[in-house]
Amino acid sequence: MTSQPQHEHPFWDGCARGVVRVQLCDDCGGYSLLARAACPACLSETMRWVDSPGRGTIESVTRVHRPPSRELPSGYGLAVVRLDEGPSVLARADPDELWIGQRTTIGFSDETTGGRRLPVALPA
Ligand SMILES: [Zn+2]
Repeated sequence: MTSQPQHEHPFWDGCARGVVRVQLCDDCGGYSLLARAACPACLSETMRWVDSPGRGTIESVTRVHRPPSRELPSGYGLAVVRLDEGPSVLARADPDELWIGQRTTIGFSDETTGGRRLPVALPA
């Protein structure tokens, strides 16, 4: 049993198999990364999980010197990536190789943190 809500598992299940998953609204075509019972744009309840190509643009990139978990090293890189579908996703990143506005592709860590493969922003 985990503390994570059941409806968020499809995102992490996607990460485990190397795919970014987002929710698509069948009524308005909007996307959401966070698991939602209703579309944030039109309130439709027809959201379903789909695979994303995992391409986007770096919105922010930084180093985290006080990691939130002992499994993460001090000074690890973290980026906010705006997916082409619209939602943004947090991803591990190398701040020496990535910059704001750069195109990126989401890959996934080989090792797990907290039992999960984490998204990794890579130069496109
Ligand atoms: Zn909608």
